[in-house]
Amino acid sequence: MSPVGLSCYSRWLSRFKTIYSQSTVVSFSSTATTTAPPNENETPLSRPAPPPIRVALTESAGRGVFATRRIGAGDTIHSAKPLVSHPSLAAINTVCYFCLKKIQTFSGSQRQGVSLCCEKCKESSKVFYDVEKRADWLDFDDYCRTEGMKYPLLVKRLACMVISGAAQANIVDILQPASLTQEMILKMEEGFCLLQCAFSKANIRKEHTSFLTKQWYTAVLARIRINAFRIDLAGGVYEDLLSLAAASVEAESAVGNAIYMLPSFYNHDCDPNTHIIWIENADAKLKALHDIEEGEELRICYIDASLSCDARQSILSQGFGFKCNCLSCKRLG
Ligand SMILES: [Zn+2]
Ligand SMILES: [Zn+2]
Repeated sequence: MSPVGLSCYSRWLSRFKTIYSQSTVVSFSSTATTTAPPNENETPLSRPAPPPIRVALTESAGRGVFATRRIGAGDTIHSAKPLVSHPSLAAINTVCYFCLKKIQTFSGSQRQGVSLCCEKCKESSKVFYDVEKRADWLDFDDYCRTEGMKYPLLVKRLACMVISGAAQANIVDILQPASLTQEMILKMEEGFCLLQCAFSKANIRKEHTSFLTKQWYTAVLARIRINAFRIDLAGGVYEDLLSLAAASVEAESAVGNAIYMLPSFYNHDCDPNTHIIWIENADAKLKALHDIEEGEELRICYIDASLSCDARQSILSQGFGFKCNCLSCKRLG
């Protein structure tokens, strides 16, 4: 994983061939962990227009996201709710346990040490928290803290969502997995055992945890490794942030990590035309950095673009498993 921890991959996964053909049009902003109830008064005319993008095959980097019309610099292309998110352990007392919004005072709803910023988040968090609060997480959290691991927390949250029936066990299968070495798989074993142990001590019924195998745990972590975004809340208004490269924000400002569906389909470019930002919570916004023409591929930068070409290549190769062939790398290479 790169030290920056931003998303993705650009490799082709053959089983998507049938799902994402050249003509596939993505007509939603993202898959959310919870769905807002439909508004009865809503007419088709009042619904927001679908985002001006489609997911299609690139020539060499597998899936990619393309503009279906001209997009102006600074425009919001779409937003996306996380499939799964989790605050970093260091931020657990200062951000909402569901949406990762910073909590200035403790006036928000609170329960057993975690804070939720509003009634909506309190309600939405039930999809994992009703299960999570039945178990003792001391050992599991200690393991994450001492080993400096953040991704097992996402797996724990996803497992709770699956047990409560709010998510399918295969919800992240569509994302590209990292290739894992035997050593990495062995290192994951302790986390898996602690997770399983916490559920079994909490007397969660066996039929509800039958999905929780070592293979499932490893496969989910393999996807999270290259698809998780580190969330740095920008706060304030977007216009103030245009000069701010999201990836260069200090590590301490990260409030947590999350995985998304659609944002994971964006390929990387060291000189991107699009960037992903978080204003006040884990809802991601994809913004155009330059004017983008119809048909152009939209790309984001997974890493700190200010690094040297060699440093970028090394992080992309070790963390994401590909060699960057973007124009800036080609110019310098
Ligand atoms: Zn919240
Ligand atoms: Zn590059």
